[in-house]
Amino acid sequence: MSGTPREIQLLKYKDDGSFDLDVVALQSVLNRDDVKDLPVVLFSVAGPFRTGKSFLLNYFLRYLHSPVFKGEKGDNAKPLGEDSEPLGGFTWRGGSERNTVGLLIWSEPIIKTLENGDKVAVLLMDTQGLFDSKTTMRDCSIIFALSTLLSSVQVYNLKENLQENHLQFLQLFTQYAKAADNGEELKSFQNLLFLIRDWSYYDTHPYGSKGGDSLVAKRFEVTKDLSTDMVELRAQITSSFQKISGFLLPHPGFNVLKPQFDGRLSDLEENFKTYLLELVTLLFSPSNLVPKKINGQTIRAKELSTHFNVFLELFKSNETPTISSMTKAITDISLQTAVNDARELYENTVNSKFGVDQLSAPTEAIRFSHSQAIEAAKALYNSKKKMGSADELVARLDNLVKELDEILPQTLLMNETKVRKLNSEAQKIYADEVKK
Ligand code: GDP
Ligand code: MG
Repeated sequence: MSGTPREIQLLKYKDDGSFDLDVVALQSVLNRDDVKDLPVVLFSVAGPFRTGKSFLLNYFLRYLHSPVFKGEKGDNAKPLGEDSEPLGGFTWRGGSERNTVGLLIWSEPIIKTLENGDKVAVLLMDTQGLFDSKTTMRDCSIIFALSTLLSSVQVYNLKENLQENHLQFLQLFTQYAKAADNGEELKSFQNLLFLIRDWSYYDTHPYGSKGGDSLVAKRFEVTKDLSTDMVELRAQITSSFQKISGFLLPHPGFNVLKPQFDGRLSDLEENFKTYLLELVTLLFSPSNLVPKKINGQTIRAKELSTHFNVFLELFKSNETPTISSMTKAITDISLQTAVNDARELYENTVNSKFGVDQLSAPTEAIRFSHSQAIEAAKALYNSKKKMGSADELVARLDNLVKELDEILPQTLLMNETKVRKLNSEAQKIYADEVKK
């Protein structure tokens, strides 16, 4: 992606108020050569309007770009950036009323080498307008479900306390999660972090992750005075996520209320900065840098937009997706991914030998390489973990082979054109090549 790093809006609005995914925008981030084949670790922050989500994401960005995160600890490493630097990044402190939902992604994935040597692409996602009065509950839960389904860690950002209605909202969209679970797999959603801002009851639950976890445990505790609905709600949420934790942040101090506040570190309370650092250190620690998996398959950057689109369309098409529609969507993606990889292998092999930039070659050599490349593509397809019936698996492969076979005449035709265009010198090179 070229240009200045910036937030990219992923939802495209239509005249009737409905929205689509802006696939081109998303692919501009994910299809970069150094990113497209990497597993993705996506961090999303979602929650009510004006709870400091974008502000926080900008400190995430600072930390992810700091030498500390890169593992180059120096004496003067500043994990949260310079003291007097105004806070840039995602648009924050948006004062105007929002009446549309938004899903934004940072244009520059941060490439990180994990302890085992694998590289991953870390992505940050911001959400807008999710709980505004003007946003319909349906749009809201679709976006929340989508961001949760695609993230490795969903930060549910709340102000002051964790209330029953916050949990009810989670239940609303975990019905999507249930549908996404095809029974054989683990829980559909990965990590959920309840992040409470401006926490003030530190006597009962201390700041940081310790207090956060104890608050969450308390809220999820099944006690006698809970109604059946409330018990069910808790069971549904816990069964949807692989891990649920909490974190309590103190108030950042009253400078944040001043009109001239530009987000700089030096205007924030010491206590807030201490816990902000604890939060980012924990959030981006190796145990949370979990590549996104859907149905047991690690998702690479270039595949993420397919998942985005399929899920979004599915959510939009039904009030609540059924288990079978969701399973079908995931099956389709797994097959499509295997087919795409196999096709790419074929194309790369053939292009590297007989592409436009290559010299012409003997017909026999082209035919031979073509069959070899098809065999290699088939082997790759067969080696991929896929879902779907045996018939479906075979049908997709047959289709692919048919499609690849149709490329051969084109390659031969292009080769003939090259031959015709060759000047006598090139002809000689060609003759020499054949003799070899
Ligand atoms: P968003 O709508 O959730 O993305 O909120 P913003 O990030 O745009 O922040 C809204 C306002 O809250 C800004 O003026 C921030 O300075 C302020 N803010 C940021 N973090 C906190 C916090 O932890 N507590 C309080 N009270 N205000 C915050
Ligand atoms: Mg915001």
